[in-house]
Amino acid sequence: MATESSKLAPIIASAAKQFAAARGIETVGDLLAFWPRRYRTRDADLGTAEVGKFLVGVAEVKSASTRPMQKRKGTMLNVVITDGRHDIDITFFKAWGHEKALVPKARGIFAGTVGTYNQRLQLTHPGYTMLDDFDAGDRKALIPIYRSVGKLHTWTVTESVRRVLDVLDDVPDALPADVRARRKLVSRTDALRGIHTPDTMAEVETARRRLRYEEAFVLQVTLAQRRRAAAGQSTTPRPARPGGLLEAFDGRLPFTLTGGQQEVGATIAQEMGRDVPMHRLLQGEVGSGKTIVALRAMLAAVDSGGQAALLAPTEVLAAQHHRTITAMLGDLAEGGMLGGSEHGTRVALLTGSQSTAERRRTLLDVVTGDAGIVVGTHALLQENVDFFDLGLVVVDEQHRFGVEQRDALRGKGTVPPHVLVMTATPIPRTVAMTVFGDLETSTLRELPAGRAPITTHVVPEDRPGWMARTWARVAEEVRAGRQVYVVCPRIGDDDVPDDETDLRAEAVADDGDEDAPAAPARPLKSVYAVHATLAEEPALAGLSVEVLHGRLAADEKDAVMARFQRGELDVLVSTTVVEVGVDVPNASVMVVMDADRFGVSQLHQLRGRIGRGGHPGLCLLVTGTDVEAAMTRLNAVAATTDPAAQLHQLRGRIGRGGHPGLCLLVTGTDVEAAMTRLNAVAATTDGFELARLDLSQRREGDILGAAQHGRRTQLEFLHILEDEDVIEQAREDAFALVADDPELGEHPDLAAAVRARVDAEQAAYLERG
Ligand code: ADP
Ligand code: MG
Repeated sequence: MATESSKLAPIIASAAKQFAAARGIETVGDLLAFWPRRYRTRDADLGTAEVGKFLVGVAEVKSASTRPMQKRKGTMLNVVITDGRHDIDITFFKAWGHEKALVPKARGIFAGTVGTYNQRLQLTHPGYTMLDDFDAGDRKALIPIYRSVGKLHTWTVTESVRRVLDVLDDVPDALPADVRARRKLVSRTDALRGIHTPDTMAEVETARRRLRYEEAFVLQVTLAQRRRAAAGQSTTPRPARPGGLLEAFDGRLPFTLTGGQQEVGATIAQEMGRDVPMHRLLQGEVGSGKTIVALRAMLAAVDSGGQAALLAPTEVLAAQHHRTITAMLGDLAEGGMLGGSEHGTRVALLTGSQSTAERRRTLLDVVTGDAGIVVGTHALLQENVDFFDLGLVVVDEQHRFGVEQRDALRGKGTVPPHVLVMTATPIPRTVAMTVFGDLETSTLRELPAGRAPITTHVVPEDRPGWMARTWARVAEEVRAGRQVYVVCPRIGDDDVPDDETDLRAEAVADDGDEDAPAAPARPLKSVYAVHATLAEEPALAGLSVEVLHGRLAADEKDAVMARFQRGELDVLVSTTVVEVGVDVPNASVMVVMDADRFGVSQLHQLRGRIGRGGHPGLCLLVTGTDVEAAMTRLNAVAATTDPAAQLHQLRGRIGRGGHPGLCLLVTGTDVEAAMTRLNAVAATTDGFELARLDLSQRREGDILGAAQHGRRTQLEFLHILEDEDVIEQAREDAFALVADDPELGEHPDLAAAVRARVDAEQAAYLERG
């Protein structure tokens, strides 16, 4: 008898080599995890035949004839197979070996690439197996169809799987019996048999349901264990001190906190007051006011004698946080200085581009504890950064950071610090339960009062008048006292990729990047080119327009951003360095050039830069590929043979010799997907809805993070967006089980499944965000 770890070679002999070479399938377990792609009934069916495509079909031989070949020796075999409705011709240039099997009325499974000859569909030298042979062992009603494995045909794969199942012992089951009973799930052994040798599609569905549940369950058990481990740590409680910094700060807030800010603030205060480290994810729409929530938590940490670190993804954002926090604190941020408040502390900024002297001074403030709040980029994570007593870590825009970075910062506390992770990319509930499943979640749902609505339009750049109108609107807003962002996908004509742009999860191909996919037909708009265009645009004469991008020197970047913030610049032409967190309430227009090159959440983030100061916002998504027009053009050519210029001319090159012609119009822009994205962003400002769309356009694997290596660690059956019920039930079962049996000592099969998952670098990817 065989187990899942048995080698295949002794069981299926010669085919084993092919499995190993073509698919890396070496063990019984590997083979059983090679799921059928679909199922066929025994009824003859050739309805899926399509010229140029690989066909696997069941059919009956209608006629067969041999004849000597004209120019060569030997006999040729012509067979017609049928499913009763469709016929396909089959040709073998050597009849030998096939004549006996392919006789009228014999039924078989045929596989090959469909071609045409004399206007009829044809298969040349197809693979086939006659049903009588195929059925020799087993007579299940459905025929599973597998992906090809090297030169093996699907029925050889079927045959191999059957042989393995014949000798298979009951396999270990990660799902405990009581969970299976409660959720009405079959055993793993039954599921494997059900999926590989089913009689009905209902059996297949039962098997899939069980395998889907198992995936969700194992995932949730790993998260439950992580959460438990975190809960077992102890730390210093950091309660806010009456009469401290936080109280003084709250007393001067120029606005009242929203209900959500108060509620989340109370939760955080409570958790930071305990001796178990807080691990909380705060998600909130762009502009929902997460920074204040974080700042209040940081002040509580300082009040209790600790320090707080704020990790930001870009220098621009770190500098802005530093500026706004310092400004909001006023004299509270002048601790130890003449004229500073008695409760005061200091706010330090640490970035990679500071001078050595500056850096040394800052490091000293951090290690002595004089700086209660330390804002920085990745530079914060370096080894020579030591804290006096790090009590709270805040990570802004989590999706830019990996778990390693969060952990690196956490490791700088003498005891594990409290952790607050913030993200503006709204996370659908099911994803929150899986990817971020080890963090408690809070959500800011309302925006602060006084937010004005934002209108979004898609601007087809090539249509006459549209760009002129765009710049005219920009000029109007500036005359009304507002400011404008113009965002471009790349910096300039030189070919160094933009450093900060590269931090983006969904990087836009940079023309200069050698790894970038084939360069688009026309160059993407660059900051410098657009800046030059604007300088010549009559509508914008006299406006102050400046550029900002990641490759400017740090102090230059700072200076430009500060001037924009103070209202001294009218228009800022930049890369996506302004994508996250940048907060200039007076800005009311966001123009995104080559918007089709950006992802949904990126566009939503960019749009979040405007509409912050009570002025109605206008977001213009400019697209150079006039996708709708392009698609209409292609479809028009495809739909008719009326002369329609160039493409039609080209198509005229074929179909000249009496052979039916085939014209395939290949387009590099996935125009429909791009258009769907832009229209969706234009249609709603609901970040949750957009996040869903964004995720649905990607593969599950991407949602979970890193590319997976082992075939068996991918989620094969579970769809994170769709299987909400499954995830929820599995979570309930998993957390209950881990509460009873944290080390899984009583569930060795489950423990093995969890180990297999975690081993495959899961720990990192689960949190990667
Ligand atoms: P985000 O959640 O995108 O990080 P910010 O923290 O940058 O949002 O806040 C956006 C703007 O709203 C800031 O200018 C901030 O000062 C302001 N703000 C925050 N909370 C309130 C509030 N309760 N009332 C009015 N304005 C607020
Ligand atoms: Mg922010």
